Amino acid sequence: PEVPVGAIVAGAAARWGERVAYRHHDQHLSFAEVYRAACRFANALRANGIEPGDTVAIHAPNCLAYPVAYFGILLAGATFTPANPLLPPADLAAQLSDSGAVAAISIGKAAQALAAIRQHTPVRLVVTIGEDFDEFHAGQPETRPDVGIDVRTRLAHLAYTGGTTGRSKGVELPHRNVVVNSLQYACWGSGCVPALDAGGNLTLDQIGSEDEWPGRLGTGTGINLTPWFHAMGTIGGLNVPMLTGTTIALQDGFDPVRYLADAERLRITTIGGAPALFAALLACPDFHTRDLSSVRSLSSGAAPMPHEMIRALRRRFPDAVISEGYGLTEVTMGATSGPTSASGTRKPGTVGVPVFDTEVKIVPAEGGEEPVPAGEQGEVCIRGPQVMIGYHNRPAETAAALVGGWLHTGDIGVLDEDGYLSIVDRKKDMLLYKGYNVYPRELEELLLAQPGVRSAAVVGRKRADVGELPVAFVVRADEEVTDEILLTAVNENVLPYKRIRELYFVDEIPVSAAGKILKRELRQLLT
Ligand code: ATP
Repeated sequence: PEVPVGAIVAGAAARWGERVAYRHHDQHLSFAEVYRAACRFANALRANGIEPGDTVAIHAPNCLAYPVAYFGILLAGATFTPANPLLPPADLAAQLSDSGAVAAISIGKAAQALAAIRQHTPVRLVVTIGEDFDEFHAGQPETRPDVGIDVRTRLAHLAYTGGTTGRSKGVELPHRNVVVNSLQYACWGSGCVPALDAGGNLTLDQIGSEDEWPGRLGTGTGINLTPWFHAMGTIGGLNVPMLTGTTIALQDGFDPVRYLADAERLRITTIGGAPALFAALLACPDFHTRDLSSVRSLSSGAAPMPHEMIRALRRRFPDAVISEGYGLTEVTMGATSGPTSASGTRKPGTVGVPVFDTEVKIVPAEGGEEPVPAGEQGEVCIRGPQVMIGYHNRPAETAAALVGGWLHTGDIGVLDEDGYLSIVDRKKDMLLYKGYNVYPRELEELLLAQPGVRSAAVVGRKRADVGELPVAFVVRADEEVTDEILLTAVNENVLPYKRIRELYFVDEIPVSAAGKILKRELRQLLT
């Protein structure tokens, strides 16, 4: 449906009413309260001179004020731009200037950091959570502002890429992208179809039978750890739960022991996050002893899920649906998903098939638009209504990424005969040794399959004569594991040019806020 994002939160209020939407410590907000507060917030923005089309930043971690500000910005016809509250000052100033944000919602220490650089940005209005946030919108009308929104051109999100491989880029995503991508994931997992009521509110209708679908509408509960300043959080944590009526509990930071205690107490039905979350849970003894029988589905995304991890989760949850999705900021959140119906065909290790209305093709990595045959590796390209308009202020990069409506992702993948996609690695992480391609992920999978290995990452050491040599960093769970054991186990199973040449044990491997391994930091260790 061609409706703005505001129709999702309005629909949630109409459909789920006083059911709890968000819970944090002993406070909570119902779906209806989120909508009413968001309307007040939108009216407050308008009263303070924010016009439709202006950009407003949220510079905060997940908290109860976040959905109010987020939906408020969108109901006012303004564009939401998320900023990681831990961004170093220079990066924050650069991002806010690039986005053209005229207002920012911030909190605590992040607000102090913002105050220090604000004069170098276009931000003229700051609202601080825990200080003037409540006062800012109290007393405003609870009616939805009457703003015209062209859902195909008016930006809902100006989202910044994770910056895993370099400087992050602003991605332009209109309202239609956000609504479509939220529906693509909400409907996929629940046997539902979208429905518009007479007031233009967007809800879902259940068509599948109760036995067949793991998550009945309006019955789910989850703990959200994915930051809402990242695509997986904005769509998966803010919009999809509004459609499905899922209650989301928030936590301050991540502590696996507390997470698992809460998971048992709240009888959560779903666990979602990056593989880094599942790795931490699997390593925690409580994961194996807590009563998690309420969990019906597990979903992973943002980074590759090692095969060994899927097997370990399957042993712990023999009946739950385990799915992996693949996406990037440039497609709003996602493009594919593994099957979520308990009876669906599963292909563990793949990232599933394209979500509806979405096409995936694989083209030669060295260039060209003609797809390669099934089973052959190449660059993953995506076409669909969730694909960005372009990069903000970067016409050359937009022209390189979008060719004839197809987004070139920079990821290497392979489609099988049945249309299931597997991600081999990032093009940028590929190593070139004497002209041969070496994909670190293959070596990482072999390391992770060894007992006593908790996490592993492989990067290249540059050497003028041969190109790049694979070097491994490993976090071990068992001190008995030696570099000799691991090098033998991996190197005996790969072609000679792929062999790992050096291996270092480390206490931890750096990951981004979204749970991605930061290979550029590991490469710096080698220089
Ligand atoms: P930047 O582009 O600024 O370096 P980034 O690539 O981390 O940052 P995101 O949009 O956050 O930006 O991440 C998208 C990338 O994450 C994808 O291109 C892909 O490499 C990786 N990714 C996401 N989901 C999966 C998955 N299920 N399996 C493997 N890789 C994944």
